[in-house]
Amino acid sequence: MKNIVIFGAPGAGKGTQSDYIVERFGLQHISTGELLRKEIADKTPLGLRIKDIMDAGQLVSDDIVVEMIDNAIAHNDCGILFDGFPRNVAQAEILDKLLAKHGRTITCMIRLDVPREELIHRMLERAKTSGRSDDNEETINHRLVEYESKTFPVASYYNKQGKEVLINGLGGIKRISQDIAAAIEKQ
Ligand code: ADP
Repeated sequence: MKNIVIFGAPGAGKGTQSDYIVERFGLQHISTGELLRKEIADKTPLGLRIKDIMDAGQLVSDDIVVEMIDNAIAHNDCGILFDGFPRNVAQAEILDKLLAKHGRTITCMIRLDVPREELIHRMLERAKTSGRSDDNEETINHRLVEYESKTFPVASYYNKQGKEVLINGLGGIKRISQDIAAAIEKQ
């Protein structure tokens, strides 16, 4: 059973490529960002607590996302594509432990590499249609700072385990999908 992490900066194309990967490999897609946005849209007590944090481009607390992931793993039997998680090294360590409880492990981490100017350009384009309140210039900058300081170290966490696969995230969506599929098939 494959358990894959799709990794990259905000705007790197994780969501777009995730749709393709889950279809191709029959995995469950778990996007912590989407799960959190649903809490906000549904105005749940959790949603009300996290709205301002997400609008500021900061990470929500580990406890909140870890509980979501723990539940998802416990109910899954087809393999998972983790999108937006782990977002810091502490979350990566917890993910390994949660998977181990179920006799599972991360198969590989797919890292989409995209230059900063292109990331900003894509998020500002997406803002025109996404309705996402965090796709504005100020929040985008905060999200990139959070990514560089807290999330980027997760890449070397997987690299040390020999699980990091680097994919050029610049170019046509189809070519990138093909590169990802070929990398996953090799695992
Ligand atoms: P993007 O990667 O484009 O920033 P996401 O949908 O993955 O978009 O995440 C949006 C926001 O949700 C983040 O800025 C953060 O506030 C919150 N978030 C998502 N996943 C996590 C996580 N694993 N840990 C903490 N916060 C998270």
